[in-house]
Amino acid sequence: MMELMIATGNSHKVEEIGRILAPLGMTAVSAKEKGIDLGDVVEDGDTFAANAYIKAKHAYDLCRQPVIADDSGLCVDALGGRPGVYSARYGGEDSTYIEKISLLLKELKDVPEEDRGAHFSCAVCCILDDDTVIEVEGRCEGKIALAPSGEGGFGYDPVFTVNGVSFAQLSGEEKDKYSHRGNALRKLREALLPYSAIL
Ligand code: IMP
Repeated sequence: MMELMIATGNSHKVEEIGRILAPLGMTAVSAKEKGIDLGDVVEDGDTFAANAYIKAKHAYDLCRQPVIADDSGLCVDALGGRPGVYSARYGGEDSTYIEKISLLLKELKDVPEEDRGAHFSCAVCCILDDDTVIEVEGRCEGKIALAPSGEGGFGYDPVFTVNGVSFAQLSGEEKDKYSHRGNALRKLREALLPYSAIL
């Protein structure tokens, strides 16, 4: 079976992507494990899909083996979809997630529970060879909690809730069942079926 290289330096994403793809019969390895330094790439696309492509193409050009890249973020209804593609830069590139979460809760402080709808989006771009680019997207609908809870996950997980439970309160496998990344990667698996002879 051919392996997919995950074009990210984010260890949380590597862990989740590997965990989701393994039971689907696909092996994913991080760029770090392959000894490849992805360096910095300018993510200046204005959609998740555009940024996923930028990251995948950059990695594919460096290693010329099948790659996948994920671009994701949190879109909050009461903020007109912000922070969206700017989720990693919300409150400043160097701010911590504790700071990003408190800024988000501050921005939403007057928003009642029924208007706190939000979704996570995840675009995955997979480049198999010079001529084959596969793009999928997954979403997960939820709400922004009034306060953080839970110890698991990463990023905005402590304030993103589905059925009243935050992503940070779920085990990794439970999060994957609902998550934007789980949904996107299950679609990717379907889209890759025609290539199963080489993968
Ligand atoms: P990217 O690495 O440029 O795609 O940025 C993704 C941003 O969205 C980061 O700020 C992440 O913390 C946030 N994000 C994406 N997926 C998740 C998730 O599953 N849980 C929590 N935050 C996430």
